[in-house]
Amino acid sequence: MYFYNMPVVSAKSIYQQVFDTIESLYGKREAGSLAAAYLFDRWHIDRIKLSMNLELAIDDRMLKSDLRKLQQGMPLQHVVGFQEFFGHKFQTNHHALIPRPETEELVEWVIETISDLPSESILKVLDIGTGTGCIPISVDLAYDYLECTGIDISEEALKLAETNAKRLGSACSFQKLDILSNSLEKDTWDIIISNPPYIPESDRSQMHKNVLDFEPGLALFVSNEDPLVFYRTIAQKSSSALKKSGLLFFEIHESYGNEVRKLLSDEGYEDIELRQDINGKDRMLKAVRK
Ligand code: GLN
Repeated sequence: MYFYNMPVVSAKSIYQQVFDTIESLYGKREAGSLAAAYLFDRWHIDRIKLSMNLELAIDDRMLKSDLRKLQQGMPLQHVVGFQEFFGHKFQTNHHALIPRPETEELVEWVIETISDLPSESILKVLDIGTGTGCIPISVDLAYDYLECTGIDISEEALKLAETNAKRLGSACSFQKLDILSNSLEKDTWDIIISNPPYIPESDRSQMHKNVLDFEPGLALFVSNEDPLVFYRTIAQKSSSALKKSGLLFFEIHESYGNEVRKLLSDEGYEDIELRQDINGKDRMLKAVRK
């Protein structure tokens, strides 16, 4: 059987084509899981359908074009156009960091913390360096008494975040702001969150081509001389922008847990808590502005 550009192919043969295309880039293990994820995200073929080796008519041009992009090292999320994060599908593109699982853990901590706060009045939440908007949108969608805002230096990232909010039905708002040079409004926020750039330039050489070529360096890297510049600036500006007893949440580089903790305590924050991610690495901090 053959429809125009819609040949009938077996699930396993698509899997094999994807696997063969990316094996040399990612190695056997990761290529296998990426090929399975591709089948599901693009063609709704789950592992059961794959093991049954279902036959299906697919758009051959789309498959060929996807294979070309994967071969160039384009991340799967950019090929299929989205990444699932905290149960929501976020559109991705090369203007913002692809939402990461460690950031889901940070969002989980924020959401868990909010459930213990009084809910009589609206809580104002700010995310600094919002990228796709995955942090404030996920937090916003978890409760109906929050007013969430995301800021970013990149207009393209803000457009993406706005699209994501609209598609996911969140009223989260977005504004352009460069946190290193602009100030924040005083006594305004109940919660400030940030996953700022934190990878020292010196780590660049150990990173995969699919990150370096397809994700914005602006969202990832900081200079070796001052890797904590965003943490210091955000901690300082937040200490006046947060309301009394307001909370600051950070995602951090695994090597800087104690340094960021010290920076927060020098800045006058209290009840500072450092948490590890699922891989046992120091990954996030919470602090209270007294
Ligand atoms: N966690 C991301 C990574 O390791 C980096 C995020 C960031 O720089 N804020 O790729």
